[in-house]
Amino acid sequence: MAQGNIGVTSDNIFPVIKKFLYSDHEIFLRELISNAVDATQKLKTLSSVGEVKGELGDTRVRVLIDKNKKTVTVSDHGIGMTEEEVDKYINQIAFSGAEEFVKKYKDNAAAIIGHFGLGFYSAFMVSKRVEIYSLSYKEDAKAVHWSCDGSPVYEMEETIKAERGTDIVLHIDEEHEEYLEDSKIEELLKKYCKFLPVEIVFGKKKEWKDGREQETDEDNIINDINPAWTRKPADLTEEDYKKFYHELYPMQFDEPLFHIHLNVDYPFHLTGILYFPKIKNNLDIRRNKIQLYCNQVFVTDEVENIVPEYLTLLHGVIDSPDIPLNVSRSYLQSDAAVKKISGHITKKVADKLAELMKNQREDYEKKWGDIKLFIQFGMLSDEKFYERAVGFALLENLEHKFYTMDEYKELIKDKQTDKNGDLIVLYTQDPDSNYSYIQRAKEKGYDVLLMQGELDVHYISQAEQKQEKMRFVRVDSDVIENLIKKEEDKQNAEGLDSAEESALQYSFEGEMPKAEKVNYNVSLESVSADALPVFLTQNEFMRRMKEMSQHQQGMSFYGEMPDQYTMVVNTAHPLVASLAKELRDGVADKVASLETTLQEKQAEEEKLKAEQKDIKSEDLSQEQKDAASAITKEVADLRNQIKQVYQEAAKENKRIKQLIDIALLASGQLKGEGLAEFVKRSVEMM
Ligand code: ADP
Repeated sequence: MAQGNIGVTSDNIFPVIKKFLYSDHEIFLRELISNAVDATQKLKTLSSVGEVKGELGDTRVRVLIDKNKKTVTVSDHGIGMTEEEVDKYINQIAFSGAEEFVKKYKDNAAAIIGHFGLGFYSAFMVSKRVEIYSLSYKEDAKAVHWSCDGSPVYEMEETIKAERGTDIVLHIDEEHEEYLEDSKIEELLKKYCKFLPVEIVFGKKKEWKDGREQETDEDNIINDINPAWTRKPADLTEEDYKKFYHELYPMQFDEPLFHIHLNVDYPFHLTGILYFPKIKNNLDIRRNKIQLYCNQVFVTDEVENIVPEYLTLLHGVIDSPDIPLNVSRSYLQSDAAVKKISGHITKKVADKLAELMKNQREDYEKKWGDIKLFIQFGMLSDEKFYERAVGFALLENLEHKFYTMDEYKELIKDKQTDKNGDLIVLYTQDPDSNYSYIQRAKEKGYDVLLMQGELDVHYISQAEQKQEKMRFVRVDSDVIENLIKKEEDKQNAEGLDSAEESALQYSFEGEMPKAEKVNYNVSLESVSADALPVFLTQNEFMRRMKEMSQHQQGMSFYGEMPDQYTMVVNTAHPLVASLAKELRDGVADKVASLETTLQEKQAEEEKLKAEQKDIKSEDLSQEQKDAASAITKEVADLRNQIKQVYQEAAKENKRIKQLIDIALLASGQLKGEGLAEFVKRSVEMM
């Protein structure tokens, strides 16, 4: 029996491995099975070129648990190793440079595995002793037994082994006895080995018989050795793709919307299938992720650095031997091959969407609701993708017709260009609450878009930046005549005198609801006799900023601002005109003398201001300054008194409250107590 020291200088390499690889202990199984698969494939290759003669026999890789001996064995019928090879590959090569490497990457466990032949040694993460029994395929080879307890000292001797191939026997240590459970091993096999190219057997197939689950004689094969992505697209049907999707995500019951088969040979190797999933909620997005494989061995489902972020929402697999799997994340981001891969995937996805849009427009439109999120996310985060996507990103109007940006511009350009030549796009986020505003827009022959997606508000901002002379406004953000201004509008209310205007302004201001974080302004505007007498609008800019602040950091300033609404009092409406008169007449006696005084004081104030206008403030005497501020205060006081008179009277006027409530109701803001009061008041007024 030979004894020796493993070719490494440090005595404590194993404690180092155990410690630093702590979080990733389970990958030992993947590493050992990958080696077994490699050895089997090498044998098949040798056989195909005639180097190995005769039948290969059983080439399945088996994983066995012996609960009594507390061992897990990975057994293959591959090329095996001679004593010299074990010495070379396990004792020397596997450990050369390992110590240095562990030191360098001690903070990055994943980086160590798979590098410098450390794969095999990961077995020591869970074992107190590891044994190798191997018989090489070479003629007259003698079987070898190697054993090591985790110290750098190993034992090696000749042994008897009937079948070609290698058994790796792990004596599982106390801390890792979970790996002696069938369910645990099964879980790991399903995670890492589902699509390995050589059949992996774990126990026997079970079936229900006589009311209980019983083992059959048949091997329980846990993997699909020819997963769809390794086959040619021409050999696959739509059904095959769907079947594979469910194989990949057994808990996903929805069908994917469509797929993209990736197949690149140059300048890097990449195969895979990406699926556009049907997303119902955020939970779904997170649950199933793109899986990354390296020659059919599962590596990770954290693909953030390999595909652009917005495409991580897709499902599917990517398999590439060219992605450096075991290096740090920051390195990955700057890796040229990875960048190319990411660029290629983006291009493929864009090609597919463009093709669907061109050749299957109707079907594409049907799926638009489901894919919109990806596409907008992509447009917002990737300039290159944006350029492609303007051709296939769709806008949906209230009639559920779909348009590209160019098509839509063409549709609305005649009617919705304002007096400055700006194209105004009208939209709604809630057709029900915006109903009356939408009606007004339609009466004018305008089109209204539906914008209910999570990213629509960002998409709108982007579109405004990219498209010249084009603006989006929500249909309730102002009077329609103001949203699309056709000619110079008359700013003043028609037909009302200034006393009537004050009456309306003050009375409505006094009766507006008081709510936290909501501000209501009152604005008198002569809209039109057939528009509603009173209605609410919400400033487009502020509202949008607030909406965007929900998604973006550094915008919380806007999030804290109160909601701004404007109560538009339509002075062109006969009801408003009569109300103005009524309000004015009701208090005329009380305010008449106050108004006369106000007019006198205002005249005085103006005169004083005119006198002081050309004098610098430091040249004014204290007396002059006092006189000016006294008169300003008097004017303000008088205004206040007048306002109070109006507002006192308004409290008794049910029509004002009623009109305000109708406006609130029309925009979905009348609720709870306010709604109950409205109902009660309505009955009283009938
Ligand atoms: P890597 O697989 O990355 O080369 P490992 O430490 O996992 O590193 O293995 C070192 C070498 O030992 C392999 O390259 C291979 O030559 C040999 N080896 C490991 N396992 C087996 C096996 N089951 N059958 C034949 N050779 C093996």
